Amino acid sequence: MQKMKKDDLVERNTFDAEAEFMEYLRENAPDDYELFDESKSGYSYFENMLISNISKSIPDLINKMSEARGVSPDVYVFCLQKEFVNALCFKKNQHYYIGIYSAAYVELIRRTQILAGYLVRDGQWELYKNRNESELQALLWIDAFRMILTHEFMHIILGHCDTVCNKEAFLWEVSSSDSQNALKNRKQQALEMFADAFAAEDAVQQIFAWVKDLNEIRYRLLNYYLSIVMVFSVFDKYQGGGTHPGLGVRFLYMSSAIDDTIRKVSGASDPEKIVEEIDTVIILFMEIIQQYPRIFAYNIIAELGDENIYKEYVQLYNTASDIVKETNKYALYHLEEFSKIGDTALEAMDNERNILYNATNAGMSYDEACEMIYYMKRLDNGE
Ligand SMILES: [Zn+2]
Repeated sequence: MQKMKKDDLVERNTFDAEAEFMEYLRENAPDDYELFDESKSGYSYFENMLISNISKSIPDLINKMSEARGVSPDVYVFCLQKEFVNALCFKKNQHYYIGIYSAAYVELIRRTQILAGYLVRDGQWELYKNRNESELQALLWIDAFRMILTHEFMHIILGHCDTVCNKEAFLWEVSSSDSQNALKNRKQQALEMFADAFAAEDAVQQIFAWVKDLNEIRYRLLNYYLSIVMVFSVFDKYQGGGTHPGLGVRFLYMSSAIDDTIRKVSGASDPEKIVEEIDTVIILFMEIIQQYPRIFAYNIIAELGDENIYKEYVQLYNTASDIVKETNKYALYHLEEFSKIGDTALEAMDNERNILYNATNAGMSYDEACEMIYYMKRLDNGE
């Protein structure tokens, strides 16, 4: 038998993450909690298996994310047996804890299963022709779960968990907090925007690190888009207090974070061209989510068409600019500070949107309208 090192013994004797996690919940949570236990869960064999398998891979995922950002937080993740969707994080004795409710796992497993079936069997989507249904389900499910995990991880390393837990016991994903408190909500929403955008950056970097063929990148990116909007939809269903930005704005900043990352990591001489080629998946994405309102929250379409969407985005962005000064104090991964978007820039964005809308309504193609805006800008600048 291998002799145990003294350090191991000390570590084992002094620290038991599961016990510390459960004790904190017992002392601070408004509700009773039990850890997920597949023998008692009531889920199917397949669902239990996917939950157990992904749980085993979490330490490795956390290590990779930490390495990529050059940080080393002490993070422990547990699945809590609960029949509604939520996730939380907190800090205790320099250890960070993430709890994800089992219903979040199961809702995503079920929706990815249904969606994979539709996409492969339907036959109308070129990118899904001749794909294997179970492989697609696995891809969608892993992307979706990783979205939750990475999002929580970002809350930790960007200092959000410390900032919030200085005042409150937990950083909740779905909170029952007072929806009247608009400023507090706006701040929380700005934290959510950061966590989302950095999670997207990591995911796109992963895709580009592993996949080289452009069509395959488009396939993976389309799956990623579908998975994250599925996660947003599942959480949105349980959302009361407006802790997250609206789905339309959430999609807007996610897609811009994704495009920025593509520009950074593509390694192409003309990154804009790559972004354009890859971005055609957005059209497919829109078609797909409109066809399956059982799987995706339908309000995302309505919100994307809302004329106030840029205004909301700018307010969020400006709150984020304030908040980063505060969260950086606790962050393991520091963000560069950035200045706010002024009224003139907002007006310009609004104008562009109107021109685009009118031009495309008048029969101009989207590309032609963009080109026209580009020339108008150059004229404005006196070029
Ligand atoms: Zn969050």
